[in-house]
Amino acid sequence: MAVEPLIHELSKSERRAVRVPAPDVPATPLPPELCRETLDWPEVSEIDVIRHYTRLSQKNHAIDINMYPLGSCTMKYNPKVNEAVARYPGFAGLHPYQDPSTTQGVLELMHELQEMLAEIAGFKAVTLQPAAGAHGELTGVLIIRAYHESRGDTARTKILVPDSAHGTNPATAVMAGFDVVTIPSDARGNVDLEKIRAAVGPDTAGLMITNPNTLGLFDEHIVEVVRLVHEAGGLVYNDGANFNAILGIARPGDFGIDVMHFNLHKTFSTPHGGGGPGSGPVGVRDGLETFLPAPMVRKVEEDGDVRYEWHDPVDSVGRLHTFHGNVGMHVRAYTYIRMHGAAGLRLVSEDAVLNANYVLARLRDRFEVAYDRTCMHEFVLSGSRQKAKGVRTLDMAKRLLDFGIHPPTTYFPLIVPESMLIEPTETESKESLDYFITAMLQVADEVDESPEVVTGAPHKTEFKRLDEVGANRSLNLRWHPMAPEEAVVGEPAREAVPAD
Ligand SMILES: *Cc1c(COP(=O)(O)O)cnc(C)c1O
Repeated sequence: MAVEPLIHELSKSERRAVRVPAPDVPATPLPPELCRETLDWPEVSEIDVIRHYTRLSQKNHAIDINMYPLGSCTMKYNPKVNEAVARYPGFAGLHPYQDPSTTQGVLELMHELQEMLAEIAGFKAVTLQPAAGAHGELTGVLIIRAYHESRGDTARTKILVPDSAHGTNPATAVMAGFDVVTIPSDARGNVDLEKIRAAVGPDTAGLMITNPNTLGLFDEHIVEVVRLVHEAGGLVYNDGANFNAILGIARPGDFGIDVMHFNLHKTFSTPHGGGGPGSGPVGVRDGLETFLPAPMVRKVEEDGDVRYEWHDPVDSVGRLHTFHGNVGMHVRAYTYIRMHGAAGLRLVSEDAVLNANYVLARLRDRFEVAYDRTCMHEFVLSGSRQKAKGVRTLDMAKRLLDFGIHPPTTYFPLIVPESMLIEPTETESKESLDYFITAMLQVADEVDESPEVVTGAPHKTEFKRLDEVGANRSLNLRWHPMAPEEAVVGEPAREAVPAD
């Protein structure tokens, strides 16, 4: 349904959504700068507020509307039971300054979540503090730095990062004070073993690897890669954002990983970013738990009694987040794990991998496949065939919007030209996968028969191509009301500015 943009001022003097009852205690006047008369706040009724936010919500795509195959981001459906549990007053009404004697329930939940994540990935201990994947990476690399420093090993200045890595990996290494050495991938999409062998040495602090990687492939030499880095005295960090393919099947701790972050907002079905906030717990192997951020929840058993308390690990890298991280996300992820159980989590990964391979098999004749292997939870197509006919991946992504589908990740991984990284996730039915496949095949037909339909897309969205570069360079988040006569319904589309 088309939603008419309403962009004029809604505020009307003296209009109210809520009337506060007269106080039954003596009233104290607010300082003048906090009084309504001096604040430039909108004055609106309840229905104005509801319509405003409902209208805004309809301008965006969401997993609750249709498929969202945004590779590497794991935009799976977030079960509503997570939300119901997070809203229990016993969780939602807590204050972080409460004495732990009054918050034993949530501490128990956090402790259990730490233990479950440690078990799932094969680690000794897990911190729940970091608020995102990138934040978990920073936490993990600071732990690697603290580990070397604790041994007086200060010559290790380099972190190796494969060229297929997510951009946050090199950014994290630099933020933590390291130099980045980029390692190329081989012809099968693994990290190039020979290049690792040549790069490691006494200046290697560690390697940040993503396994399965962002090409959707499990590194066939992971054990050897880890051995080479360990032999040189470095530690291995696993970017665990792509954990959705190996739940209950493989454990990074078992293939030698020292430190890893999880993305609760990817694998464990908590909301992402703007709908979030996120959560990026970090797990470490035996021997590194003393470096974890402070404080950690621990379980104390005394005289048949169990209680939970905060403690600071002895070599801690310090605090990475206010209070205890995004606790509401811990409640949601805990609920998700408990609802699935061990067998259910394994099924999540089996279905995610099956769905991705099904879509790949149906699309492989019409698009270039970047690495011709059985994929994990996602796969990469290249739009190079279509580009030769004058249609770019950006155009095809825009065309998918007309089908009500969020486009896949485009132009990442960087090492595949005109790339589309497609991650259907396990929560899509065969029917919705078929709908996506049909849309992709139709776009491929259009590239051959009527390319202008694709290069002129989208045709059905409220706005056409936005100036994405301009939006980035001159970000303007302030809304300015217009007079109703100025408001243009269905603003004309601006020309696209595709980056080349
Ligand atoms: C999403 C992602 C990240 C970063 O996670 P954020 O929560 O967005 O900071 C890092 N690496 C990979 C492979 C990812 O997919």
